[in-house]
Amino acid sequence: MAKVIVIGGGPGGMMAAIQAADKHEVVLIEKNEKLGKKLYITGKGRCNVTNNKDIGDFFEYIPGNPEFLYSSLYTYTNIDVMNFFEDLGVKLKVERGDRVFPESDKSSDILRALEKELNRKGVKVLLNEEILEILECNKSLVGVKTNKSKIIKGDYFILATGGVSYPQTGSNGKGHEISKLLGHNITELKPSLVPIEIEEEWIKELQGLSLKNVEIILKNSKGRKIFSEFGEMLFTHFGISGPIILSCSRFINTGEKFSVTINLKPALSSEELDKRIQKDFMKFINKDFKNSLDELLPSKLIPIIIKLSGISENKKVNSITKEERKNLVQVIQGLELTVKRLRPIAEAIVTSGGVDVKEVDPSTMKSRKINNLYFAGELLDIDAYTGGYNIQIAFSTGYIAGTMVGEK
Ligand SMILES: Cc1cc2nc3c(=O)[nH]c(=O)nc-3n(C[C@H](O)[C@H](O)[C@H](O)COP(=O)(O)OP(=O)(O)OC[C@H]3O[C@@H](n4cnc5c(N)ncnc54)[C@H](O)[C@@H]3O)c2cc1C
Repeated sequence: MAKVIVIGGGPGGMMAAIQAADKHEVVLIEKNEKLGKKLYITGKGRCNVTNNKDIGDFFEYIPGNPEFLYSSLYTYTNIDVMNFFEDLGVKLKVERGDRVFPESDKSSDILRALEKELNRKGVKVLLNEEILEILECNKSLVGVKTNKSKIIKGDYFILATGGVSYPQTGSNGKGHEISKLLGHNITELKPSLVPIEIEEEWIKELQGLSLKNVEIILKNSKGRKIFSEFGEMLFTHFGISGPIILSCSRFINTGEKFSVTINLKPALSSEELDKRIQKDFMKFINKDFKNSLDELLPSKLIPIIIKLSGISENKKVNSITKEERKNLVQVIQGLELTVKRLRPIAEAIVTSGGVDVKEVDPSTMKSRKINNLYFAGELLDIDAYTGGYNIQIAFSTGYIAGTMVGEK
């Protein structure tokens, strides 16, 4: 029986270990005192474990190397992941956006199921062991060296050490360093799914405000539309965050100038919004402008919109001109924010960049450089939007690495 060493006890490594254990002796090595520290905090502690969309629709939610994932996602699909957990007694539910969560709303249920399965399959789990080095001999790996100067020998190695985001959960880039030393190219590591800092000072006044059903448009310095999305966002003390902002951040490069335009009323055409405002103005005809927008906008936004509209807050509604009203419509449907910078990669939900997928066989996750090395999860140069896609990717690539390890 061959011995497989899996490095990294996140969803990618755990799934790889569970699958590999069907044919091999498996050791799963994790540097933390427990498995799945990041998995535990996913989905705000609820773990959005996958997505219920048709697997063929997943690829439009994967901006980072989707083609590389065809084989693994079609081999081990979202349905397979759901069946895996349901079979282990974890009831699941589907929420808005087809997001799948444990019915209990507890990520610990997902983690416990994985741990039980590792145990049932006889995987030897070593905790508090950090891999510092993989030992190589004639283009083949022979063992790993841990922080306790232990050498653990093996026949096959699966590297699943994650990205570089949220390093406090364990994923600190060691796996990239090791892969590089083994001859793999590491593509530029960038924050993906990260909040955005905004130049405009007034943004601070909106802190804590969350908006549903808005549209955002990301434009570059030439005014070209780079990305747009409908959904939920929120304002923070430094700028903007929330699902559609995180997705948008994927397209912001440092060194370039970008703006984010928010359409606060995307369901209405400008004519429809104008009519709606006229209706409100009729209702509040003898009031000051500042008291006429309560039914249209959240209260925190009103002073900002008033300021940007250029209409005096004390102007009587009945004296607002058509021109002023049209300008108000434009401000509401085109609230423009200047991007200062992205928050640091440590705060990103996922890392874009990693082990170059050109050097990995997508149908086996095997290194094209080293005979007995395989990869799984976020360590690879792959990343997706929020919605359960990233954990699914970790499971699918982990499944492939685990089932294909040692196959001729
Ligand atoms: C706050 C937050 C919320 C998220 N929510 C969701 C969500 O709801 N749904 C979703 O799909 N995705 C979510 N993600 C993304 C998702 O968690 C990751 O994409 C996923 O965990 C990647 O799995 P992985 O196994 O590749 O890496 P990780 O989960 O990062 O696991 C890697 C493991 O390797 C270990 N390790 C690293 N180096 C070594 C070493 N040298 N020796 C030994 N062990 C090592 C680490 O300690 C770690 O346990 C979220 C991410 C964050 C940060």
